[in-house]
Amino acid sequence: MCLDENTIKVLSYVFLILGFLLLLFLFFYFFYNKKKKKKLGYYLLVFIFIILIFYFRGEIMNIDICKSDKKANNVTTTKAMPASNSDNYAGKTSKGYIIEKKDGAYFIDDYLIINKSYALSKDFIPENTYEKIADEICTTCIDKEAYEKWLNMKNDAAAINLNIYIASGYRSFEYQKGLYEKNVNKDGDFANKYSAKAGHSEHQSGLAIDLNSVDASFAATDEGKWVNENAYLYGFIIRYPKEKGQITGYKCEPWHLRYVGLDLAEKLYNDGKWITMEEYFGINSKYK
Ligand SMILES: [Zn+2]
Repeated sequence: MCLDENTIKVLSYVFLILGFLLLLFLFFYFFYNKKKKKKLGYYLLVFIFIILIFYFRGEIMNIDICKSDKKANNVTTTKAMPASNSDNYAGKTSKGYIIEKKDGAYFIDDYLIINKSYALSKDFIPENTYEKIADEICTTCIDKEAYEKWLNMKNDAAAINLNIYIASGYRSFEYQKGLYEKNVNKDGDFANKYSAKAGHSEHQSGLAIDLNSVDASFAATDEGKWVNENAYLYGFIIRYPKEKGQITGYKCEPWHLRYVGLDLAEKLYNDGKWITMEEYFGINSKYK
């Protein structure tokens, strides 16, 4: 059972006022009607009634608040809503998460969001990278924490004779612009299924890496299978899982990993049934 927040508030005040009025009544009646001492039973009855009122008030306050934004799908979002910082406020997701914009990037629940709806600004350059950015592209200029996790992942894979390597890491806004144009010239509109417009690529954030062949065939290799099953243990997600193209805006990319940290990665891994960031936070991925 659930009630909306205002109903709970009103009911709790009504019960509180009722309880105090009866207590006041009992108090005055007891002290100003000394002749009626023999009616002790009545006092006891009123007293029990007051206790019951306070008891029910407590029960009402324990009733769950109805969440009007609950979605009819299997994604459960358990994290508490962050407080809104009015300076950075950029909207709310369909699941009630606050979207913030700071330093040229969008954040939901402190996770950097980049897709077809949410872009990085032209001059966004990741700061805390493993190696300093000095070029348009760089495979080691990845977010420091992400890169250290990547090294653990690479070593663990190597220990079982699997060879995984970064084929593409950081890409600048300008580089992505050229890459996208090249892909559009080659494949026309289909390019939008695998290539992002400048500003809309996760590679500009320093939080994404492309592995090995950067090809759909990667999924069927031993490396691809291991990555799909184990990346979340290092805080990475398969950002564009299969059968989620309508949601992410991209066809399946088994080679493209995005670092989100252990906590969210485990939730999105979802025992092998990958959930997208779009589903989890309740956002779209569509160019305006
Ligand atoms: Zn990629």
